[in-house]
Amino acid sequence: MNDTLFTPDRKLAPYWWDQVPRPVIDDAPLPPAADVVVIGSGYTGLHAALQTARGGRETLILDAEDAGWGCSTRNGGQISTSVKPDFDTLAKRHGEQSATEIIKEGQRSLAWIGEFIAAEAIDCDFGVVGRFHAAHNPLQFTKLVNAVKGQRQGLEVPTEIVERSAQHTELGTDAYFGGVIYKQHASVHPARYHQGLFDRVLRAGARVVPRCPVLSIARDGERFRVITPQGTVAARNVVVATNGYTGPLTPWLQRRVIPIGSYMIATEPLSTEQMARLMPRSRIVSDTRKVVFYYRASPDQRHILFGGRVSHDETDPAVSGPKLHADMVKIFPELAATRISHSWCGFVAYTFDELMHVGNHDGLHFAMGYCGSGVGMASYLGMRVGQQVLGLAEGRTAFDGLPFATRPFYTGNPWFLAPSIRYYRWRDRQSF
Ligand SMILES: Cc1cc2nc3c(=O)[nH]c(=O)nc-3n(C[C@H](O)[C@H](O)[C@H](O)COP(=O)(O)OP(=O)(O)OC[C@H]3O[C@@H](n4cnc5c(N)ncnc54)[C@H](O)[C@@H]3O)c2cc1C
Repeated sequence: MNDTLFTPDRKLAPYWWDQVPRPVIDDAPLPPAADVVVIGSGYTGLHAALQTARGGRETLILDAEDAGWGCSTRNGGQISTSVKPDFDTLAKRHGEQSATEIIKEGQRSLAWIGEFIAAEAIDCDFGVVGRFHAAHNPLQFTKLVNAVKGQRQGLEVPTEIVERSAQHTELGTDAYFGGVIYKQHASVHPARYHQGLFDRVLRAGARVVPRCPVLSIARDGERFRVITPQGTVAARNVVVATNGYTGPLTPWLQRRVIPIGSYMIATEPLSTEQMARLMPRSRIVSDTRKVVFYYRASPDQRHILFGGRVSHDETDPAVSGPKLHADMVKIFPELAATRISHSWCGFVAYTFDELMHVGNHDGLHFAMGYCGSGVGMASYLGMRVGQQVLGLAEGRTAFDGLPFATRPFYTGNPWFLAPSIRYYRWRDRQSF
């Protein structure tokens, strides 16, 4: 480990946890039964639980770790429409109508999270700051501009093209070739948002039991038996909200999601002048690389929070931190001597069609597969899956009934990831 790159008090844990530590929950015996058991206490699980608890169902949320320990308190707090495939790709696969509905569902998820936070008055540094999506080579800039100019009628979103010559108004770097601002994209303090949601779930009457891994789920007629080391809970409905941590508990789902590590660092505090020079607009930022870099200022405008890299096997933030630092310095050379105060990672869930999925398999409700962009969509689909449990018509989504594909012999260990990433990194270094 290159220790000089870290501050002496560096933490190998999310920057966000300094301000919002994982909640302390009193130990209490598991109830013998609940109407709804939700597995996973991230955005998906808590939003599902909020619906079912407010809908009058006795709701129990179980997490293998502390509440919110997964990606929902580790992410970059960048909120987009989440849907990665473009209209043409979706139309080829599912037809034009379905493609239109899927893209609109992504747009709805972005609008909805803002409405939810406002309606619930959650204090979480939410702001519609806009995203600067930067082109990492000239061809990508042309592609971005063409995509923006050729937006399909009825699916347009507000954008602004930034030429390379004007780039310094957005970012203090010459590493890019211009970019596009997506004006509706937003930022949030992810752990404050999670905490606000968590508080409302408790207020709605649901219970959260941390450090209680679900070991198996057995069918018992119309009901389920949810088995944990702390006891068994009988449940009418079960929601699986485990996303990138989906394991052998649900083999059918495990065969359909690809767990991928995503990594972040926080810099030590920078001066006001330096922050104003490097990130003058305080937007969220991403780029056109396939192995994308994403970054932003911290809500107090003192640190840069820089994310990127993907891997399945790298789980030590002491190792990933310096690699990310080197990537950051390629974009902001003046940060070469700036140290890392926090380094952390988490597992996101990709899918073979790069779409999120929601539904019911063998009686188990699920929503997952946000492909690294789940702040808005996990919230939105968590809410929808909760409505589906309640049997409400508004629980319907554009993703319902879409095939959730796997691949022959794939059982949850993405052996193909390392060569794919090497290929994508090579592609990112080319001029196409
Ligand atoms: C470093 C990083 C940066 C990211 N940045 C962004 C970003 O800027 N914007 C964006 O939109 N998305 C981002 N994401 C992705 C986003 O955070 C996730 O898509 C989203 O939080 C998923 O929420 P979730 O509730 O489905 O899953 P999670 O929050 O991961 O929760 C799953 C939970 O399931 C629990 N669990 C698993 N198995 C069991 C079991 N058997 N029993 C009990 N509990 C179990 C886990 O302990 C975990 O707490 C990022 C992710 C990472 C890791």
